[in-house]
Parts: sequence; structure tokens; C-alpha cells
Amino acid sequence: MEDHDVVVIGGDIAALTAGLVAARHGRDTLVLVPGVPGDHLANIELIEDFPGFPDGVAGYELCPAVQEQAASAGTQFAMEAAERLAADGADWLIETDAGRYRARAVIIAAGTHPQSLGVPGEERWQGKGLSHCASCDGPLFRGKTVAVVGGGDLALQEALTLAKHVAQVFLIDRHDTFSAQETYQRRILEQPNIGVQRRGVVEAILGDATITGIRLRDDASGETTDVAVDGLFVYVGEDPNTAFADGLLPLDATGRIPTDALMRTALPGVFAAGDVRQGAVGLAAAAAGDGAVAAVAAHRHLLEREQQNTAA
Ligand SMILES: Cc1cc2nc3c(=O)[nH]c(=O)nc-3n(C[C@H](O)[C@H](O)[C@H](O)COP(=O)(O)OP(=O)(O)OC[C@H]3O[C@@H](n4cnc5c(N)ncnc54)[C@H](O)[C@@H]3O)c2cc1C
Repeated sequence: MEDHDVVVIGGDIAALTAGLVAARHGRDTLVLVPGVPGDHLANIELIEDFPGFPDGVAGYELCPAVQEQAASAGTQFAMEAAERLAADGADWLIETDAGRYRARAVIIAAGTHPQSLGVPGEERWQGKGLSHCASCDGPLFRGKTVAVVGGGDLALQEALTLAKHVAQVFLIDRHDTFSAQETYQRRILEQPNIGVQRRGVVEAILGDATITGIRLRDDASGETTDVAVDGLFVYVGEDPNTAFADGLLPLDATGRIPTDALMRTALPGVFAAGDVRQGAVGLAAAAAGDGAVAAVAAHRHLLEREQQNTAA
């Protein structure tokens, strides 16, 4: 079993920043990530609200740069998914799909995964017209019609990305008003190939081998109609990746991890950063900030332990 000062669970912007800052504080730091670091952000074509990039930055450029910076500072990486986190005296044990690690402090930055719409048989359409990633799958629908479901930043941003690839985007939100940033709302209304349906609810996905349409209820009129679409992109919320800490950490009603302002959880030596924590705002810059705070707090926690050990 390997021992580390700090083990970071997750491999995107919060985790990479935590790894960078912990290593720069001289801590032996390991980042555990199931695939390629930056896997989540890599799918975002253009991030326009990350400071320092006036023309925006592609997700697939931002994360490798942070990973390189973290690796230069001494951060180690293992391409493994955390499966269980458990206490080991004052330390923590992390079991992965490939090994076991002991950490004196743990930073959980495992982010989120997309929520499903909740319509019957939805899973069977994944990869057959149903997607959560415009830049990955948008080009497959060139010249076709797609529906986007959701009214937040992600939905509107992804609808704008899709509008570059497809003939027509049909944006469906169940509310009267979008919750997305004003900038995206304005661009949506200016985009000629995006149509908007407010108070719309997708009741069923239609098709045979692939999606051919959706059954849509208009909540304002109560009418239900079948709308022909070739693809369906869903952004109705995100669920946190916290299964490995099940039963160990108190979670809020959405499964997110409550922290204080220093990213400390209810467990001493366990910190949470980024979209996995309660109150996260869902912005890459905020997740990076959380990662930095968590790393400094983990370093201070270890300093305190070291001082106590010296005094004893
Ligand atoms: C379509 C889309 C567009 C977006 N556009 C923008 C934008 O323009 N601007 C902006 O600021 N934000 C944007 N966001 C939000 C932004 O991507 C997130 O706020 C940010 O990625 C959160 O970072 P994170 O590191 O907390 O979590 P995530 O990015 O979710 O990363 C979590 C990491 O943890 C890993 N992981 C998961 N489970 C485990 C496990 N068991 N063990 C180890 N590792 C695990 C994952 O593989 C991943 O590497 C967008 C999000 C989406 C989905």
C-alpha cells in the first residue's frame, strides 16, 4: 500500500488545482482519476468566464495546462477510480479499482455526472441520439434537428454550440424564464436557428433504432404534441459523485458534501472542493478556487498534526 500526505480524488479543474497547490506546499500528493485528467472540462468547446482568457479557452487546453503545472510541482497521478474511503486511525484509506492508498489528508473533488430526464426507457437511447455533450456529438447531427432540454448555463451554452453544427435547435425549458447568464440568454434569442419552447416538458422519447422525436407537453396550454427531432441533448441538472464515501460522510439532500469556508468536511483531514460540494456554483473558476483553498487547508491540518506529534 502506498502512503501519501494528500490524496486527491478526482481529476478535473478542482482536483488538478488542489494537486498543484498541495504539491507547491511541499506535500507528497497523489491525484486519483479514473481516466485522462481533465476528462470533464475537455468536452467544453469554449470557456468564456475563466479569468485570464479574454477570448475564452477550450476545456481541452485548460486542463492539460493545469495538469502539466501540477506535475512540474511534483504532483503524482494514478488513473484509478476511488471506490471506498474509510478511516484508519487519524489517517484515511482509499480503495480504488486497482489498489489501496493511505493518506494523511484527503481532498474529494470528484465532481458530478449529468442527471437523466426521468422518462421511461431513457437509458436505451444513450448513444442512439441521446447525449449530454454538444462538442462531442454535435458534429454527428450536421444538417439535422436536435432538441436541447434545460434552462441553465449548460443548456444554453450547449444549444449555442449545437447551433454551429446542426440545421435547427429546439430549446425546451420547463420554466417561464431561463436561469442562465444574461449573455447566453441574449445570444440564444439572436441565433436564427434556435427556437425556444418555455414551459415545455418532455414526456417520452420516440424512435426505433435511433431517436426520431419527442413527446412534448406544453404546460401553459396542457397540449401534448409529437415533435420530430434527430437528437436529444439533456442538461437538467447534475448529480454528485460521492458513492465511494457512502455512509462515511454526511451529505445534503442532493448528495453533495457540506463544507465550511476552508472546504473542511465533518471529518478531520477530509476536504471537499468543486462541484461535489454543497453550495458549488457550477463554474470552473470557482472549482479551481475551491481546490486551492482545500489544498492550503489540508496543508495547515497536516502542520497542526505535525506540531502535536513533535510536542507529544
Ligand atoms: C456542458 C458543460 C458546459 C460547461 N461550461 C462551463 C463554462 O463555460 N464555464 C464554466 O466556468 N464552467 C462550465 N461548466 C461547469 C464546469 O465544467 C464545472 O463547474 C467544473 O468542471 C467543476 O469542476 P470539478 O473539478 O469540481 O468537477 P468535474 O469537472 O465534474 O470533475 C470531476 C472529476 O472527478 C473524476 N471522478 C469522478 N468520480 C471519481 C472517482 N470515484 N474517483 C476518482 N475520480 C473521480 C472525474 O473523472 C473528473 O475528472 C460546464 C459544464 C458542462 C457539463
